[in-house]
Amino acid sequence: MGQPKGQFIAGKALLGDEAGEAVFNPATGAQIADVASASRAQVDAAVAAADAGFAQWSRMPPKERALRMLRIAQRIEELADEFAALESLNCGKPIATAKAVDVGNTVDVFRFFAGAARTIPGIPAGEYRSGFTSMLRRDPLGVCVGIAPWNYPLMMASWKIAPVIAAGNAVVLKPSEHTPLSALRLAEVCAEFLPEGVVNVVTGNGQSVGARLVAHPKVRMVSLTGDVSTGRKILEAVAPTIKRTHFELGGKAPVIVLADADLPAAVEAIAEGGYYNAGQDCTAACRVYAHAALYDRLVADLQSAVEAIRIGDPAAPGTQLGPLITARQRDRVDGFVARAAADTPAEVVTGGYAPEGPGFYYAPTLIAGARHSDEIVQKEVFGPVVSVTRFAEDEQALAWANDCEYGLASSVWTRDVGKAARFAASLEYGVTWINTHSVNVAEMPHGGVKSSGYGSDLSVYSLEHYMTTRHVMMKH
Ligand code: NAD
Repeated sequence: MGQPKGQFIAGKALLGDEAGEAVFNPATGAQIADVASASRAQVDAAVAAADAGFAQWSRMPPKERALRMLRIAQRIEELADEFAALESLNCGKPIATAKAVDVGNTVDVFRFFAGAARTIPGIPAGEYRSGFTSMLRRDPLGVCVGIAPWNYPLMMASWKIAPVIAAGNAVVLKPSEHTPLSALRLAEVCAEFLPEGVVNVVTGNGQSVGARLVAHPKVRMVSLTGDVSTGRKILEAVAPTIKRTHFELGGKAPVIVLADADLPAAVEAIAEGGYYNAGQDCTAACRVYAHAALYDRLVADLQSAVEAIRIGDPAAPGTQLGPLITARQRDRVDGFVARAAADTPAEVVTGGYAPEGPGFYYAPTLIAGARHSDEIVQKEVFGPVVSVTRFAEDEQALAWANDCEYGLASSVWTRDVGKAARFAASLEYGVTWINTHSVNVAEMPHGGVKSSGYGSDLSVYSLEHYMTTRHVMMKH
């Protein structure tokens, strides 16, 4: 792999002017790139390029914007193998899932928002006061900043670019310092079809490059997918310039398995959704509440399913579980598991260790008998770790599920349609799945409540965050 230059500004790949960030292959621990960071002047240049791109792009009719976005989608699809290889190399994702899910979702998101760009709804023009005609305008905001995490670098880049440009804005994206490679390649693809400056990427760490970007006075909006603490810092940083924000922060999804649930289906979904992407997923099925009537069977069957997960080389066919993103993240996950084992009555049923050998792997881990108040149940681990807690009364499970700082994703497992509807109505989460977990579609919103943030990615609702509603009134 050639050394990436690091910045993509005004249609050109440029070498960053500041010290580099080392980028690793988490499956081997080997350094694969040293990506020079953007200087303050380069951050300013990226914002200026976006501002210039905005002037042209925002005046283009939606049909023209949609056509270009469809071409971007087509090109990403043609380059699916290259993108999947890059994502697998930089994140340790099994290559088949990187292609099917990460690249597949990215293509779909560009296609969805290409269509959505042409269907912006609104109140009809009319005489809402006699003698005056009122018209509604939905205009783009200007330069928007997208700040992305490392767990789905390409997908998150597409979620931070596609709705933003569909609405007629220009964007400066800052990928995670750990995973800049696929976003830089995506910017090159976008530039083949878009006016200069509509999509820019700057790289570097959050405290320097990210902080400069979000505080920039020309930036109108900041959209972050990341940690709750980063959301807080960004809120403080944008206060002086009163910018709009859109936050997709962490999660700790409760999975409520009621006494009448289809147990094999629940076990299969938890074994999939709790460990997918090595558990580095804000909607991971990681906090299971199982009714006492099926608790023992659930733990035993889940243990068998978890022990069957194939962990290993992301390039090998059949691998289901790759490494964590960094050694630091693996050690953080191990810390949570070690504290649960040492300080609580919970039992590590399987896993709980980093396998011998190179790379940042962590064995898929199941913890049974965790109490609702335990750290392992309350805090986002962001690793391949699932806890199971026993409950006796449905009301108790519902209260525990909602007793959490996060509010992103939840699921309930039951054959009783009335119970399913009641739980769905009472769960304080952005999404509630019934008898399934972790399934997204571009047509439906993805976003949270409480500390998980506000605003939605995906769906036509996300376009609203990147547009302003304006009133034009004419006197007859
Ligand atoms: P992070 O918050 O550490 O970093 C996210 C991004 O923010 C990175 O690009 C980072 O450089 C940048 N950043 C950090 N400090 C900044 C600052 N002061 N100003 C501007 N930018 C700054 O998160 P992470 O470790 O990359 O990702 C894991 C977190 O993301 C988890 O908490 C996870 O739950 C969350 N996440 C949420 C969703 C969701 O949809 N809700 C999806 C994926 C990940």
